[in-house]
Amino acid sequence: MAKRDYYEVLGVAKTATPDELRRAYKKLAIKYHPDKNPGDKEAEEKFKEAAEAYGVLSDEKKRAQYDQFGPDAFDQMGGGRQAYSGFEDIFSQFGDIFGDFGFSGGGRRARRSGPPRGQDLQIRLQLDLKEIATGVTKTVKLKRWRVCGACKGAGGTGVRDCPTCGGSGQVRRVTQSFFGQMVNVGVCPACGGSGKQVQTPCSACRGEGRVREESTIAIKVPCGVADGNYLTLRGEGDAGRLGGPAGDLIAVVSEKPNDFFRREGTDLHCSLKVPIVKLALGGKVRVPTLDDELEISIDAGTQGGQVLKIRGRGLPPLQQGSYRGSPGDLFVTVEAEIPTRLSKAERECYQKLAELGDEANATKERSFLDDIRKLFQ
Ligand SMILES: [Zn+2]
Ligand SMILES: [Zn+2]
Repeated sequence: MAKRDYYEVLGVAKTATPDELRRAYKKLAIKYHPDKNPGDKEAEEKFKEAAEAYGVLSDEKKRAQYDQFGPDAFDQMGGGRQAYSGFEDIFSQFGDIFGDFGFSGGGRRARRSGPPRGQDLQIRLQLDLKEIATGVTKTVKLKRWRVCGACKGAGGTGVRDCPTCGGSGQVRRVTQSFFGQMVNVGVCPACGGSGKQVQTPCSACRGEGRVREESTIAIKVPCGVADGNYLTLRGEGDAGRLGGPAGDLIAVVSEKPNDFFRREGTDLHCSLKVPIVKLALGGKVRVPTLDDELEISIDAGTQGGQVLKIRGRGLPPLQQGSYRGSPGDLFVTVEAEIPTRLSKAERECYQKLAELGDEANATKERSFLDDIRKLFQ
């Protein structure tokens, strides 16, 4: 099958800047990610194709070679296809792209020998503002691969080093290419990278060394988290095959909207209806908080739309290392509550107020006319 042009794959011009390449690749990687398109072979191919194209074009040297010799020259370059086969690889290879999501693995996931590491798993934790204010322990259920209890991860008996790769899990292939001799390193096809061969597979796990189980996990979430924050639980992801180390479990926080409060960082905002009589005379009003309510005083003559700040009654800050900031504030926007139905007594009071208002106006008008008269005397 003829290879598509790498620039065409990423949908960018030949003159694309590294930043444009990055953006184009990120878009495709997210769209065709195997986790988003389970079982979709075409999406998987597209995903690999994009990874391969980006792998070459993001490298200045390789890009120059590619520009000169075209895609076929890169068939032998290796690394490409196999290296981007899954979730874990993509996030460790291009950790910077997904950096704000925290999937960068750093040196922890550097190439190592022995059975490959299990997959990272991702779950979503739905929290309401009250849970965010106090911190909470959430219990979640998930299906994951765990070490097989029957064989303790060995996969069976008669385990020996894979004869194809000699136990390294990797195979080297030396090929001749346009650029001379090339050494390809890839996952061993005989053992799938585990470096082991099981002669009598364990019946409980059929030689996998791991079994799928439903687990219940308690996750302690500190107070002050926000939408998109995540917690990494080391080793709580999928167990690797044949005793390979377990991946991580990544719990991503998602914040449930609140009917009354709006959040801005650590500050909370709300609006509160106050009867106009109270606004005119001043007095005490009750303001709901996340866990209780609060009594505050308002001044006589408070206007509708005025914002009252209640210091320190917002959300606690997220502790970062040993640093902890101060809690946010609560901002209450006053809304004038105007009665829609009046009792007889109330109506009389309002009428009296109206008359007083008219009288005041009449007095004002009289003195205004007097002033004018004085001017012309
Ligand atoms: Zn087993
Ligand atoms: Zn092997």
